[in-house]
Amino acid sequence: MSSKITPDVRAAVASAVGAANVLSDADRIVDYGHDEFSLKEIARDPDLVVRPGTTEEVAAVLRIASTHGIPVTPRGGATGLCGGCVPFRGGIVLSLERMDRVLEIDADNQMAVTEAGVRLSDFAKAVEEGGLYFPPHPGDESAMMGGLVATNAGGSRAVKYGTIRNYVRGLELVTAAGEVLWLGGKLEKSSTGYNLMHLVIGSEGTLGVVTKVVLHLKAKPGIMRSLVVPFEELEPALETVPLIMKRGIVPIAVEFLEIEPIVLTEEHIRKKWPTKLGKTHLLIILDAASDEEMDRLSQAVAEVCCEKGAIDVFIADTPAKQDEVLAIRSKIYDAIKAGTVEILDIAVPRAEVAAHVRKVREIAARYGLWLPTFGHAADGNVHTHIMKARYENGTMVPIAESEWRDKADPIRREIFEDCRARGGVISGEHGIGLVKKPYLPLVFDNRQIEIMRGIKRVFDPAGIMNPGKIFD
Ligand SMILES: Cc1cc2nc3c(=O)[nH]c(=O)nc-3n(C[C@H](O)[C@H](O)[C@H](O)COP(=O)(O)OP(=O)(O)OC[C@H]3O[C@@H](n4cnc5c(N)ncnc54)[C@H](O)[C@@H]3O)c2cc1C
Repeated sequence: MSSKITPDVRAAVASAVGAANVLSDADRIVDYGHDEFSLKEIARDPDLVVRPGTTEEVAAVLRIASTHGIPVTPRGGATGLCGGCVPFRGGIVLSLERMDRVLEIDADNQMAVTEAGVRLSDFAKAVEEGGLYFPPHPGDESAMMGGLVATNAGGSRAVKYGTIRNYVRGLELVTAAGEVLWLGGKLEKSSTGYNLMHLVIGSEGTLGVVTKVVLHLKAKPGIMRSLVVPFEELEPALETVPLIMKRGIVPIAVEFLEIEPIVLTEEHIRKKWPTKLGKTHLLIILDAASDEEMDRLSQAVAEVCCEKGAIDVFIADTPAKQDEVLAIRSKIYDAIKAGTVEILDIAVPRAEVAAHVRKVREIAARYGLWLPTFGHAADGNVHTHIMKARYENGTMVPIAESEWRDKADPIRREIFEDCRARGGVISGEHGIGLVKKPYLPLVFDNRQIEIMRGIKRVFDPAGIMNPGKIFD
């Protein structure tokens, strides 16, 4: 245990949150030392896990931590993919799990107010029960609302509906010194001074602890339809995407997929994808107010795809077919997780996706490693998976560590360099956390990073909030 966490400090924390909400037994804290990043070598046990139940308790813990210079790492659902909630410098993991109440669904203002520890699945359910709709849907529903805000999470519906940032209207932040700030509110507009709320969105727990969030909601959508469009080759598939958008059609999602992960996922969850034709597939999800509008949109999308050489257009128009297609897309991660070292999430301008993925394929061939690549084509957000397995006749075969270990770093760097050359960034939705930190200077110059350090010093002069994340 860190020498800073003396018996007196522990007693003060226990008196703030209740002794039952302070954990230090090895068999309990081990669960709080990692996220979903696959290499457990970055995991680190915290000295204490603290589970406050109210904003006042969060503030009290931060005041103690500040006084004693103890690092504090906020933790949501731990579904992060870059080590963001790993307590890299030890100290306290502050878990929001007990702050799990949706406080209000305000139908007149189309706003929800929620505590930070509410899981996305529970939040979406509460919103639906309130007769409204919360579009952002990152892939793991056990993520918590505070974590989604702290990473500015995206997901496949961002093309039409935007990322979490587009929905946050207000938030409650507890700073490192234990001050409670209300930033924004149930407002659709504000031109009142610097927007500190937007600074906190995506700050990955380095500026303070988000304890409550005000989120904009939408009216329930109309009908939905999914189109699965196989192409023989990569380029025509990806070049179709800007053409669809240029026609003024904005689908809910435009995903591109390779056939190998689809085959593995079909086997994994025992469901059927509509076709095995071709090597690259587009999954295009549309929503519309009426059947007539849906038919018109589907027809227009199908025309563009066929003009670019699509082999066929398969329509999932019943709820059962739709569920099957969406289940396969959302379970790809589970199907290939055992063979995955890391999921990258670069973002480039939409029209650069094809050339970037072609480059990834060239890198894969040069290093002799399987790098399945798919993602949110219309957002320019590409998930290349660095693998410790190869694909062989519809199965995933593990490879020796000596075959992938020394290749992972140079592959990651080459992919990031290509993305920078195309005007992109190294994270489109997962954040920087611990594992992408060394690469930040690839996309930000020294002055930008220096300004960020300065902002952190203002919020957190003692440097206790999630130290060692994003930048040193
Ligand atoms: C299967 C799978 C699919 C995924 N799909 C997507 C996707 O489509 N799009 C996407 O964007 N992401 C996706 N992710 C990544 C992940 O779900 C998101 O990054 C999510 O926003 C993390 O939320 P969390 O609550 O799990 O946060 P955690 O992993 O617990 O923490 C993430 C970061 O946020 C900070 N943090 C957490 N809570 C707070 C708080 N209350 N106050 C301040 N800081 C806080 C942590 O310190 C850490 O830096 C996926 C992950 C998995 C495993």
